[in-house]
Amino acid sequence: MKCEDFLAAVESKNLWRRWRARAHAANCQNCAEVSKMVGELHRELSQVEPISRARRQTWIQTAENAVPARALSLRPRRQYRYVASVGGAAALVLVTIGLLIWNTTRKPAVSP
Ligand SMILES: [Zn+2]
Repeated sequence: MKCEDFLAAVESKNLWRRWRARAHAANCQNCAEVSKMVGELHRELSQVEPISRARRQTWIQTAENAVPARALSLRPRRQYRYVASVGGAAALVLVTIGLLIWNTTRKPAVSP
């Protein structure tokens, strides 16, 4: 087993892979430390109480309320984009009109 495979193996559901990971950690200082850290992380995570129904509701509510706030913060950029596209379209129309005027005023001079 290589050190790169250690973390995946130690977290694996496969008993054989976990056993091999532990055997590797016994001979590898680095992976032994990683294993210790992972163990501590698991212990800390297991100590966190499951979230209560009321708190869960608050959490979901906060997440839902956070969405419009994000949309609001995006609005100025969208408006800028809208203005830019309208400006671009207006410029194109002006150029087209200008070309048409130029073309129609030029025509009598070209055709006798
Ligand atoms: Zn290792």
